[in-house]
Amino acid sequence: MKALDELTFDNRFARLGDAFSTHVLPEPLDEPRLVVASNDAMVLLDLDPAVAETPVFAELFGGHKLWAEAEPRAMVYSGHQFGGYTPQLGDGRGLLLGEVYNEAGEHWDLHLKGAGMTPYSRMGDGRAVLRSSIREFLASEALHALGIPSSRALCVIGSSTPVWREKQERGAMVLRLAHSHIRFGHFEYFYYTKKPEQQAELAEHVLNLHYPECREQPEPYLAMFREIVERNAEMIAKWQAYGFCHGVMNTDNMSILGITFDFGPFAFLDDFDAHFICNHSDHEGRYSFSNQVPIGQWNLSALAQALTPFISVDALKEALGLYLPFYQAHYLDLMRRRLGLTSAEEDDQKLVEDLLKLMQNSGVDYTLFFRRLGDESAALAVTRLRDDFVDLAGFDAWAERYKARVARDGDYTLEQRRERMHAVNPLYILRNYLAQNAIAAAESGDYSEVRRLHEVLTRPFEEQAGMEQYAQRPPDWGKHLEISCSS
Ligand code: AMP
Ligand code: MG
Repeated sequence: MKALDELTFDNRFARLGDAFSTHVLPEPLDEPRLVVASNDAMVLLDLDPAVAETPVFAELFGGHKLWAEAEPRAMVYSGHQFGGYTPQLGDGRGLLLGEVYNEAGEHWDLHLKGAGMTPYSRMGDGRAVLRSSIREFLASEALHALGIPSSRALCVIGSSTPVWREKQERGAMVLRLAHSHIRFGHFEYFYYTKKPEQQAELAEHVLNLHYPECREQPEPYLAMFREIVERNAEMIAKWQAYGFCHGVMNTDNMSILGITFDFGPFAFLDDFDAHFICNHSDHEGRYSFSNQVPIGQWNLSALAQALTPFISVDALKEALGLYLPFYQAHYLDLMRRRLGLTSAEEDDQKLVEDLLKLMQNSGVDYTLFFRRLGDESAALAVTRLRDDFVDLAGFDAWAERYKARVARDGDYTLEQRRERMHAVNPLYILRNYLAQNAIAAAESGDYSEVRRLHEVLTRPFEEQAGMEQYAQRPPDWGKHLEISCSS
């Protein structure tokens, strides 16, 4: 375990120079204080979780202090937002403080979000509010615990600094961790500004640092792009399987590593709804729940366009063609497991699709359905779950097919079925109303609820004594919360 001043830095992105990022110092928050820290994330940096409670921790991640070896930089990028190209974006309120490597040799970017104005702030104030910082913290750690690739979060630091959104709120910072903060939009920026040298440097950087195994391939850049396609397909398959709606899948929010990145008005589904739109400014539903799948491919084709200097158009098209098959394979594999199946049959895809059709407009809780399905034998479980469905005859027909399918699947005990299903079907997810309760308490200075909720969500598959209230369907007020898009 290390003390805070013993972190070892190796700022590889900063060394790319001023064409890629600008040196900016964090602007400190007033009266910084720890809201919540992730023990699991502390361990990634070899830090003793206890140091999060020391005053110097809040000073470091509240922008008051810096390590001598840190080199805070605002990165430049661009991207397609809601389908249209925005030529100049960048870290408008976040700073890459530096890259730390741990004893296992892993590099972690320390990225401080809400750290003040930068050359890329455009009309913004460079700040982040407590509410959105807590949501990003909880979501990234919860996704990770579910096995969904995501950036991580070390801590949220609150403050008394006033920040204006629809009303006056308080500023906060969230310290985000990722192996890289490079987005699709980084490649787009150098492509559209016609800077081939920097574009090549960026590509080399990503290949060497993040896809070194592709070096061995006859066409390393093509191999890297294929890998990016597959990782994105897998990430989105997991979003769909677990009911996660990102909400702002602009290419500047898509990570080159295929991890969930940049959390805004995201939501987990409560009731299943394929057409759910969590972003209230997304009037056309471009980023609705079911549209995430084709949008994933659209975003990859925007990246492919920016990679045309390195890879032939035909090869890029072929690689893009792998997206849907990859997606379907990952999705079906996970959904089979959610249904408790250990073998594969031709009709499984249809079995899943028909279940989701029955859930649509039925008011069935997407998470609890699968959890309850694993509680008991297939026959008992479907009998108990039946009442939640509107189309009872339709559900009965589906249940007969499901029971027959389970019977063909193999010989296992009830205990084995339960254990296997509960290991992939969470009991606890980050429901909007749970986040909302925790945020309301935190805004009045009580951080205990955020901390408790975070604890529960770090072990989503494990039934935790005394935590029943976190595994409930939302109350009526919590079902259709309008989450502010301002952050
Ligand atoms: P987002 O919608 O959060 O992904 O942000 C899109 C762009 O706006 C990025 O370049 C952000 O850095 C920038 N941005 C968002 N909020 C602010 C803010 N409060 N101050 C400055 N820049 C911001
Ligand atoms: Mg963003």
